[in-house]
Amino acid sequence: MVIGLGRFGGGLAETLVGMGHEVLGVDLNAKNVQQFSGILTHVVEADSTDEQAMRQLGAPEFETAVVAIGTDIEASILTASVLADLGVTRIVAKAVSQAHGRILERVGAHRVVFPERDMGIRVGHSLAGSILDYFELDPGFAIVETGAPAELVGKTLAAAEVRKRYGITVVCIKPAGGSFTYATPDTVVNEGDILVVAAEKRRAEAFGELS
Ligand code: ADP
Repeated sequence: MVIGLGRFGGGLAETLVGMGHEVLGVDLNAKNVQQFSGILTHVVEADSTDEQAMRQLGAPEFETAVVAIGTDIEASILTASVLADLGVTRIVAKAVSQAHGRILERVGAHRVVFPERDMGIRVGHSLAGSILDYFELDPGFAIVETGAPAELVGKTLAAAEVRKRYGITVVCIKPAGGSFTYATPDTVVNEGDILVVAAEKRRAEAFGELS
């Protein structure tokens, strides 16, 4: 169940349907509901802060409910609290600030996501060195997609001693115009290659800024 079919909720709901899941989209706004009818499994125009309405929609039976309301913080918190009262097993909620996130957790959200902050972090990293994309797995660990540093060009990963020297693991590698393949110790790095590396955050950042 995805509540709030704005940019975030809409994209999320469409992705889940594309992955073969059944998704009920709920929104207060008739235009948004109409926009997603035919795309999602079901769409309903309803106010998610209304406990009775949510019960009638069968909210407790859904595997997961996503609260994708950001702008109206009051509606977001009330919705998460209604879902928690109804005993929904997994409530995922989007927060627009740390304080909003804390309250969502207090009222019963099991997972809180911060899409704007996370996208800011990713774009920020993509502006440094030749980092193309950045994904934080844990506060201290990251996956980085980056261009091949000049000092690695012409060497195999084993000869370049990437683990020892840079503290990173090259997961996969893509030649210019080609596609990704798993990296092995014998993989030779060429100019223009794209590398996906996993490492401790500061090591991953430093590696991405080499080139
Ligand atoms: P985004 O930034 O992802 O577009 P918004 O907060 O702007 O997120 O949009 C959230 C959506 O949630 C809107 O389409 C809005 O109509 C819907 N919404 C807001 N309050 C409620 C509510 N009480 N019940 C159902 N849907 C709601």
